[in-house]
Amino acid sequence: MVGGSRGIGRAIAIRLARSGCDIWLTYRSNHEQAQQTQGQIESLGRRCELLCFDVGDLAAAEKILRPKVEEISPAIVVFNAGITRDNLLVWMKPQEWNDVVRTDLDGFYNIMNCVLFAMLRARRGRIVAVASVSGQVGQAGQVNYSAAKAGLIGACKALAREVGKRNICVNVVAPGLIETDMTANLPKDQILPMIPLARFGQVEDVASVVEFLCREPAMYIHGQVIGINGGLVT
Ligand code: NAP
Repeated sequence: MVGGSRGIGRAIAIRLARSGCDIWLTYRSNHEQAQQTQGQIESLGRRCELLCFDVGDLAAAEKILRPKVEEISPAIVVFNAGITRDNLLVWMKPQEWNDVVRTDLDGFYNIMNCVLFAMLRARRGRIVAVASVSGQVGQAGQVNYSAAKAGLIGACKALAREVGKRNICVNVVAPGLIETDMTANLPKDQILPMIPLARFGQVEDVASVVEFLCREPAMYIHGQVIGINGGLVT
């Protein structure tokens, strides 16, 4: 579970644990939240190992993940780590562009580069990436984030074509507005009228779909982008 300490990632990790998975839970810096999630998973009787590193740092990912995948090939990889640094493009600083692309898109390459060979060798697996409605239709003030998430969608579609024959399913979920730390400061009163289901998404709305994509034994959904947005985009 890549980026599992808080928010959507925590909900996914707990659901997967409840369905019988032991979890490697990665995060960047929020030890307290990560430990809370670990406690919740262990209370379900599953193992949870915390792995703290920046997904944008390939050397750090390799140092931590390579020795682990030599022992066990992960059956499921959920790439959920992501950040926003919103600004209009005319004002956007290079760092705001780079930080988002580095985490939300380069991070996917860095993680997959470490684990994919083992999954190919095992000839089984599920990969789910958490993109965004912004990557599907674009969002003003989020040119960086929309580009990174659109790139993530493209990467997963291409990867699906590479690994399908090895019995590895690759899919993407694209949430709309989900109530987490990431969206705490958005002008929700302006956004709500645009959502046909007339409510914001909750982390469980995303986690239930990801669990299905990861755990349903008979899987013929492959290379797809599943919107979880209350009808915001159809
Ligand atoms: P969140 O509450 O801010 O949690 C982000 C998670 O990613 C945390 O576990 C965080 O670890 C981890 N993370 C961030 N940067 C990282 C890095 N460089 N290296 C390793 N881990 C990193 O976010 P969220 O709202 O749950 O969003 C989860 C995913 O869903 C993101 O990819 C986001 O883009 C996507 N999404 C969210 C929404 C929404 O409305 N919330 C909508 C569409 C898509 P730390 O705790 O250590 O910081």
